[in-house]
Amino acid sequence: MVIGDQHFKTSIVLTELMQKRVYIETYGCQMNEHDSERMLRLLEGSNYLETKEPKEADLILINTCSVREKPEHKVYSALGRYKWVKEKKGTLIGVAGCVAQQEGIKLLDRIPYLDMVIGTHAIPMIPQLLQKIEVSGERVCETSFEEDGTYLKAILPQMPLGKVKSYVTIMQGCNHFCTFCIVPYVRGREKSRPSSEVLEEIKRLAEMGVKEVCLLGQNVNGYGKGLEGELNFAELLRRMNEINGVERIRFTTSHPKDLSEELMRAFSTLDKLCEHIHLPFQSGSNRILKIMNRGYTKESYLEKVGRLKEIRPSIAITADVIVGFPGEEDEDFEQTLDLMEKIQFDDLFSFKYSPRRGTRAAQFLNQVEEKVRQERLSILQGIQKEVTLKKNQVLEGRVEEILVEGRSKQSAKDVTGRTRSNKILNFEGEIDLVGELVSVRVIKGYAHSLRGEILKS
Ligand code: SAM
Ligand code: SF4
Repeated sequence: MVIGDQHFKTSIVLTELMQKRVYIETYGCQMNEHDSERMLRLLEGSNYLETKEPKEADLILINTCSVREKPEHKVYSALGRYKWVKEKKGTLIGVAGCVAQQEGIKLLDRIPYLDMVIGTHAIPMIPQLLQKIEVSGERVCETSFEEDGTYLKAILPQMPLGKVKSYVTIMQGCNHFCTFCIVPYVRGREKSRPSSEVLEEIKRLAEMGVKEVCLLGQNVNGYGKGLEGELNFAELLRRMNEINGVERIRFTTSHPKDLSEELMRAFSTLDKLCEHIHLPFQSGSNRILKIMNRGYTKESYLEKVGRLKEIRPSIAITADVIVGFPGEEDEDFEQTLDLMEKIQFDDLFSFKYSPRRGTRAAQFLNQVEEKVRQERLSILQGIQKEVTLKKNQVLEGRVEEILVEGRSKQSAKDVTGRTRSNKILNFEGEIDLVGELVSVRVIKGYAHSLRGEILKS
């Protein structure tokens, strides 16, 4: 018995000694965050454990974004930062995501201490790529586009326990080719996952205690196109609404052009679908929308938002907007401000136009001066800050349903969660509330969050 125990302990120690560490640094959107999680799950199956300390890592992966110039530049500074870990410890270093896809082999040429380049369709191949490096000592680059969609398959050998929310990728890529955007070039054409696989993954997540699922795709309302006999997006939501254990459903991002009446109506018919939509508009000027190739007008956007508010009056609307797109004049910018004034967005993600090599707009000759782009961004953000604050203050006194997610970063006495309308709310509470849906009265609305007090039942 004692001998058996000793043997058991020794094998645990040996396993721990053999276990390798991976550090993943993530830039960009929710899809990248989720891709990093998928990489981690996959690597756990190859004897890697996550570390939050790059200096402890046997493998460092940088998951990159190339949607704008700034996140792209961060990749190179991150690589510079980790050069010493490579020199000191022989740590393997890899670049994944959109910059990897775009730059490919050039990254290996440019960064001599880089070991692997993992394109956006190559995530499931990471274990084989690592094996190849270990066996042959060669540096590897995998950026081919898979057409069969296997790259989208769920990677779920084991999910961390205690997770309250999860992303589920339902499609990847984009067919829209907005003239400013690099996504169709680095993520490929729209590809949906079969609904049976998506629903199975959601059921498994619910069994593991996940209460809120956010469906991900560059253009979720194009879901199902190209898959014969497949559900459309609204139908997928309906089926998801029936899964026991899932309490909240969200999705991002939807394109205004493809936002159907059926999908809008889901906000009134599906009780689990949270009343929040992220609906990027990019510009309020019809002239600019046309050159951007967005496929809708300011009027049709306003009409859709009006219809959403009619269907679900409490719906929160957030969006993305770009200022300083090539050729944008003062009058065009005024139209953007006018759209904001009319809609009163709950929040906005606002960006200065950033020319992306390979996109059509990067070649336009009428680029807007950096100074003007910056000025417009500051004006727009100043206006939105006040609107967001006002919208949060309006909630004071109201009772909101909160899904408690964890300890608040600001105070050890507080827990944090989100309203159904996706606003962050902090309140004093015990950690055992995590995973619970509780009623909280809003006592104060701030610019970026709400403060509340839990209602005793
Ligand atoms: N598919 C979503 C849509 O069309 O509504 C957007 C996805 S995109 C990855 C996220 C946001 O990045 C866009 O909505 C846009 O506002 C911003 N973006 C994309 N390309 C950009 C560029 N070249 N310069 C500035 N912002 C950009
Ligand atoms: Fe980019 Fe336009 Fe596709 Fe959105 S719809 S990912 S902005 S090309």
